[in-house]
Amino acid sequence: MSTYDVIVIGSGPGGYTSAIRNAQLGKTVAIVEKYSTLGGTCLNVGCIPSKALLDSSEHYYQAVKKFDNHGIAVDGVSVDFPKMIGRKDQVVSQITQGVKYLMDKNKIQIFEGHGSLKDANTVIVKGEKEVELKGTNIILATGSKPTELPFAKFDKKRIISSTEALTLKELPKSMIVIGGGVIGLEMGSVYSRLGVEVQVVEFLDKITPTMDEMVSKELMKTLKKQGIKFSLSTKVTAITNKGESVTVEAENKKGEAVSFEADYCLVAVGRSPYSEALGLDNVGIELDERKRVPVNTNLQTKVSNIYAIGDLIEGPMLAHKAEEEGVYVAEFIDGQKPQVDHHLIPGVVYTWPEAASVGSTEQELKEAGKEYKVGKFSMKALGRARASEDTDGMVKVLADKTTDEVLGVHLVSARAADIISEAAVAMTYRASAEDIGRICHAHPTFAEAFKEAALDASDKRAINA
Ligand code: FAD
Repeated sequence: MSTYDVIVIGSGPGGYTSAIRNAQLGKTVAIVEKYSTLGGTCLNVGCIPSKALLDSSEHYYQAVKKFDNHGIAVDGVSVDFPKMIGRKDQVVSQITQGVKYLMDKNKIQIFEGHGSLKDANTVIVKGEKEVELKGTNIILATGSKPTELPFAKFDKKRIISSTEALTLKELPKSMIVIGGGVIGLEMGSVYSRLGVEVQVVEFLDKITPTMDEMVSKELMKTLKKQGIKFSLSTKVTAITNKGESVTVEAENKKGEAVSFEADYCLVAVGRSPYSEALGLDNVGIELDERKRVPVNTNLQTKVSNIYAIGDLIEGPMLAHKAEEEGVYVAEFIDGQKPQVDHHLIPGVVYTWPEAASVGSTEQELKEAGKEYKVGKFSMKALGRARASEDTDGMVKVLADKTTDEVLGVHLVSARAADIISEAAVAMTYRASAEDIGRICHAHPTFAEAFKEAALDASDKRAINA
């Protein structure tokens, strides 16, 4: 039987990052993954393939809708969908092989198979053959899977999850997307840009419900302009595969029955932790009401040498959150005093324009009774945005009314995904809105909109508004 300082179950961004950090700190490490490729949801069927298709579809959209404005005439632009999917597969393959290279480089032993706990120090791996591994510490990083609607299971043919939406064989004419959250909007954008009629059906009265209301409103406005249709406050009651099409029955906010028909129905109503068949009973770990593994502030389960990270535990289901937790656990095991500020984990929607947030929303500040100031800057007033015709969107900075400390930053803008890192850095060092307003930002850039919104929040002195 092989013995390791650390055994990691799951090779997603949480698991593989943690394995590397543990190895950097001199630990002997094994990683257990049930699939033949490493990288988890994020690299195989999540962040990376979705961004590959978002980039391809954006190129097509630009060529068809925007090139003409720039004086570029293009005739006969068309989509070779299998080639587009093939390129995405290549990107995934390169990046997952990159993780295998990193495992080898850091002398991390890979075990392919399903891992489960036999006891607090033993992991059973059921792969081609069954092996038992002994570990001083065990890190559970098994991630999550798409949530099914109880009355409409994924048939993977017409009723599909994001996984199938990333690998369709044909470009559909129409698609219903159930759920106006990040995954639904990103995949809806991919298909809408490629000319597919996309209808989003959302139970709540807004899209991206966990983000600031400004983001929900601005984003929906621009996505509508791009042709995506939205039915909000609409409760889906049934989905039927009709062979060549799919029908969705629902109830609108007036309680009236409505129905939608399309080639495919993508169900994107969230993700559920992968907490089954992990042998948790064998060590006395009980799941919470949402099937997550409960952990303390050090990410330890009730068995102190067994840790859990990423989508498997509480918090936003995001790759960078899983990564930070993976590093945290490795450094904690090493006896260091690491930190993850869960309040400062940025959230991004990779539509175009992108949407991004960090810190508190205005609604959260109101609920907490906090006195705050609001600064806003419209992308229409930004030189860089005018030059590239990316004038949709807005930046909003929330700052403490007395101290001017930045409490939240929310953007709908081109390059929001990159700009939000500046906000996260500023907030980590507890910058005031005036601090940001006094930092020289290169001109012309999209990031200047953040500076202008900060100046507006500080004392209403944005220059170009
Ligand atoms: P995962 O990445 O889910 O990895 C868990 C791994 O554990 C998997 O490989 C699984 O096979 C393995 N496993 C499970 N059980 C066992 C077992 N018993 N034995 C062995 N192996 C096991 N997040 C972002 O931050 N940015 C994005 O742009 C983004 N886009 C996304 C787009 C889509 C379409 C989807 C679906 C998700 C997206 N996410 C994004 C979310 C992101 O993918 C997850 O938050 C992230 O992958 C979670 O990492 P993890 O390490 O916790 O788990």
